[in-house]
Amino acid sequence: MNIFKLIFNLLLPAHCSICGRELFYYEKHFCLHCYADMPLTYFWTLKRHPAEQTFWGRCYIEKVYSLFIYTNNYRKPIHELKYKGNIKIGLYLGEMLGKKICLLSFPITYLVPVPLHWRKRIARGYNQSEIIAQGILKGMQGKMCRESSGRENRHPAILPNLLVRKAFTKTQTKKERIDRWHNVKDAFAINPKVARRIKPEDRILLIDDVLTTGATLEACASILVEELGCRVSIATLAWVE
Ligand SMILES: [Zn+2]
Repeated sequence: MNIFKLIFNLLLPAHCSICGRELFYYEKHFCLHCYADMPLTYFWTLKRHPAEQTFWGRCYIEKVYSLFIYTNNYRKPIHELKYKGNIKIGLYLGEMLGKKICLLSFPITYLVPVPLHWRKRIARGYNQSEIIAQGILKGMQGKMCRESSGRENRHPAILPNLLVRKAFTKTQTKKERIDRWHNVKDAFAINPKVARRIKPEDRILLIDDVLTTGATLEACASILVEELGCRVSIATLAWVE
């Protein structure tokens, strides 16, 4: 560890994003206790799981990956990423998820973050899904992943502008599923300039922060499947049980 980092840490200690305890210099974002207690979904080890069933009969999704269950204090890192400008925690959790995803059997061609409306993006300064995509890519590029996949350096590329959010939808947290669907189904479009790169054999990993009812992800995935004819999987940091 760098001596300057150590001094900086002593003067301005970081705190655990989950429990708030002061972190030791060897801990990153979470204390060891909260890291060990993280409610991982283990979707990457399961053939079938409830998050995939969310999309049954709605849209064909190959695989669904979420890192942890959105519960108790484990909601906090998502909140920090979305509303408090904590980009580093998004990258860190994205990288964790990327390492899990690279254990899957098929190669992903493109990582496509769920877009924000341009007004919201300007207000926030970044798109949290794009940050997660960058973390996932880093996780997939790791040495262990290269070895486990047995493939050469054929890593996916991030396409942040493939999808465009047309409508400025209001925060949806308290709406019912049907209302949400009407609200989001027409909110997205394909950017034809970027879409030229996509071939029908491509596999897209669609990325968002949290999987709740799946309405937003379904709207995005439907466009990708129907208009571009490619296969779509989904990755989110958290999943609402
Ligand atoms: Zn903690």
